[in-house]
Amino acid sequence: MLLNSTHSASSSYDVIVVGGGIIGSSIAFELAESALRVLLISPNKKNCEDGASLASGAMLGAYGELTADQDTLEERQELDFRVKAQKIYPDWLARVREASGQQIFTSQGTFIIANNAGDRDRANLKSIKSKLEDYCEPHEWVEPEDVPGLDPNNSAAAYQALFIPGEGSVDSFELLNALEVALEKNSNSTILDDKVVSTDFGGEEGRWSVKTEHSGEIFAPNVVVCAGARVPEVISDSLAMKLKLPQVLFGKGTSCILADAPPIPHTIRTPNRSFACGLHVVPRSGGRLYVGATNSISATAQMSLGIQPQDLLYILGDGANQFNTALRNSKIEETRFGLRPITADGIPLVGKTQFPGFFVATGTYRNGMLMAPLVAQVVVSEFLNQEPPTENVFSPLNERRRSADPLQRLLSIGARDLMATVREPGGFLPYNRTRELEAYIRLLFEMAVLDQSSHEALRQKANQMMQDIPLDEVFLSIYYEFVRTVDSSSVPQSNSSSLKI
Ligand SMILES: Cc1cc2nc3c(=O)[nH]c(=O)nc-3n(C[C@H](O)[C@H](O)[C@H](O)COP(=O)(O)OP(=O)(O)OC[C@H]3O[C@@H](n4cnc5c(N)ncnc54)[C@H](O)[C@@H]3O)c2cc1C
Repeated sequence: MLLNSTHSASSSYDVIVVGGGIIGSSIAFELAESALRVLLISPNKKNCEDGASLASGAMLGAYGELTADQDTLEERQELDFRVKAQKIYPDWLARVREASGQQIFTSQGTFIIANNAGDRDRANLKSIKSKLEDYCEPHEWVEPEDVPGLDPNNSAAAYQALFIPGEGSVDSFELLNALEVALEKNSNSTILDDKVVSTDFGGEEGRWSVKTEHSGEIFAPNVVVCAGARVPEVISDSLAMKLKLPQVLFGKGTSCILADAPPIPHTIRTPNRSFACGLHVVPRSGGRLYVGATNSISATAQMSLGIQPQDLLYILGDGANQFNTALRNSKIEETRFGLRPITADGIPLVGKTQFPGFFVATGTYRNGMLMAPLVAQVVVSEFLNQEPPTENVFSPLNERRRSADPLQRLLSIGARDLMATVREPGGFLPYNRTRELEAYIRLLFEMAVLDQSSHEALRQKANQMMQDIPLDEVFLSIYYEFVRTVDSSSVPQSNSSSLKI
């Protein structure tokens, strides 16, 4: 059933689901299929333009998301979860199709390419291949010229391509639409077009209060909060303080749908690059193409500026150069942006909390479209006290772990990815400048943020150089001095300190 916000929503429900992105809709779908009376509250698409699910490429990429850096316990656990989610996806989609009677476009197979725009592409492809082998997942190297639809600018020609036949994609719009229709058709579920302003204890045991913008306060014995990056905004301050959940941030992502584009029957993507999910083109229904995606992390949803020119320059400019130059002649049908929810420790947040009847599901970041069916099954199994389909490694009740030596890891990967970002769109730096600058930035960060005394000698030397040779040119010598300190192999001896002191 579909209610608009002027209707009373005061009938009794077993559970209120807050948020109608892929996570909330999938959970509501599973709950309603389990014969529970569900109220899904979410503003309709016109009133909420920054949901992640609609903006997503919806690649079902368990392996394509891997990088060579990801080998912490938490990262391995998430990979395992993604692989399991990928396995159950076809059956789950069949259930959604049957319950809704709607078509949901999918495509099968992903080509991951490596080219010179991504310094780490070769290492990342190697790492992806090794995990595919570990999981016995079919894959093969193919010649880049044999990738259907790949026709890049010569300067960005791919030098490697790895085909994963089992890694597909789904049309995010059609999937969300089908879930909505399935919920409307199910007599156990009701959708309310409204905004939740707060969830809180309901004044008596076993009761939760959900305050809405237009439909007043609604009570239920159970609440599942799935408002994506907006989760912090819908939990009252007093409840949030008691829950002690990790901070939820967002990574803004922009994407585009193209019509009249060259035929590209399978997803083509680069590995993840420069803090983002790399470039990708994903087939959509009616021969259209999805092109994505940017990623910029921020702490408050208000800081989002929507779609910016730099976002389009990246996805469309680099998309045409790196995938198919004929993309420039296609028609922009739609641009979208969304806020990918991510927790401060990067681990999704899924399942029951310490307060009976209060559940949360968010933080799926780049992989929520893929993980949604399994996330939903995990939540519903906890809800019904049933055997979970897999261990819930994202439970808010787990002790949140941090990897060993995180600052050094952050600095190394951060400085490297920062350099990759500043070169975009399309930029190459000559010689080994990228590596030099990476070393330089890393050292400056260490000086500014970490223990300053460890670089005292270097600081004094730089001061001395500026006093002894007060010429502008001394700055270059200091630069090389710094770079050499971090990475002596990146600086040729002739450059290391051209002004001698
Ligand atoms: C550009 C881009 C590309 C992506 N590509 C992929 C990909 O290829 N594969 C993949 O698996 N994942 C991908 N993702 C990630 C994926 O989209 C997210 O992990 C997932 O959509 C998160 O789902 P969600 O339901 O938690 O959040 P959202 O989709 O953001 O949904 C949150 C919902 O909460 C509702 N809401 C907000 N405030 C309120 C309120 N006050 N009251 C009630 N409801 C509220 C919103 O209306 C929205 O419906 C991508 C994301 C982006 C942005």
